Amino acid sequence: MAMNLENAKETLIQMKRDLLEAIRQRSEQSNELGRDGAQDSADEANNDNLRNIMIEMNDRDSRKVRLIELALDRIEKGEYETCMECGEPIGTERLEYRPFARYCRDCKEELEQSKEVDD
Ligand SMILES: [Zn+2]
Repeated sequence: MAMNLENAKETLIQMKRDLLEAIRQRSEQSNELGRDGAQDSADEANNDNLRNIMIEMNDRDSRKVRLIELALDRIEKGEYETCMECGEPIGTERLEYRPFARYCRDCKEELEQSKEVDD
């Protein structure tokens, strides 16, 4: 069955919206850490820890947002279902499971061995 690109687009836009909201909330929480009065050094260490975790999560989500934007761009260009590495179809099943995938399963596995890929 052919891929429904309109559905894929909607899914991606919704994913992006959710991620941006999660990032916004984490930034807010991170800014509020330690603002509730006097802190001892244990509180401070704890807040630093939490802040670092939230920064890491936001970095990860920001990378995902960029992949989603790339996927939306690829839909517009008619390249969405094509692997960026080998030019073969990525496969409907894979794209349904991972709507921002850029590589087919084989290329993904190969790329993973040489460098870090996110999808
Ligand atoms: Zn490939």
